Amino acid sequence: MHTTSPTSMLVDDELVLLASLGPRIHVVEDETRARQFEVRRARRGRLMDILAHALWTGAGIGFAKRRVAISRVGAAGAIVASVLPDFVHLIPLVAWWAVGDGSAGDVLRYASAVPGTEPPMPILVGESAHHLHCFLHSAVIAGAVTAFARFLPRDLWPALAGWWLHIAIDAFTHSADVHAVPILYPFTMAGFDGIAWNTPWFVAANYSALALAWGWLYCTRS
Ligand SMILES: [Zn+2]
Repeated sequence: MHTTSPTSMLVDDELVLLASLGPRIHVVEDETRARQFEVRRARRGRLMDILAHALWTGAGIGFAKRRVAISRVGAAGAIVASVLPDFVHLIPLVAWWAVGDGSAGDVLRYASAVPGTEPPMPILVGESAHHLHCFLHSAVIAGAVTAFARFLPRDLWPALAGWWLHIAIDAFTHSADVHAVPILYPFTMAGFDGIAWNTPWFVAANYSALALAWGWLYCTRS
């Protein structure tokens, strides 16, 4: 008579369980691969966006220098100010990584996240990062600082221009799905539903326009 030991029953059960999970495991692996691809694509896109801010500001300086004197410090300040609004809001996450239980991966994931893909984090970290981002993308705040520009050293004026250029570009290159920029913060969080910077054809058009701008500056240099 054929008997089945408890051990062989367990093995049989595990085999049945694995067989039933097989397709699901493949689905999870595919989802993970797709997710990793999306994260890498978002990170690349984010870097392309930040680089474009610096390149547009550089082109703006090249153009403005033909009309007004801009010092090296002023030009460097403008470039830094043109990318800073996309970095300062990471400070709370870096602090969470340094003194809390956050990680470098959380900072990177947040930096390249589109809405809904941010890593879980303490409310205080998330809220302070969010409001810092809004603060530095607000025409109201930039306007208030600009109102006191004459009390600032002249070398800082180009930095203000770089900041304004960042806000102006972002206002039209973010959409309702991709962090529409609240340019009237703190009065409203509403933003313009423009063309998202990570739309493939827009990235191509943006960099083509940059190539034209820099090409024109190069060809018309004196
Ligand atoms: Zn920005």
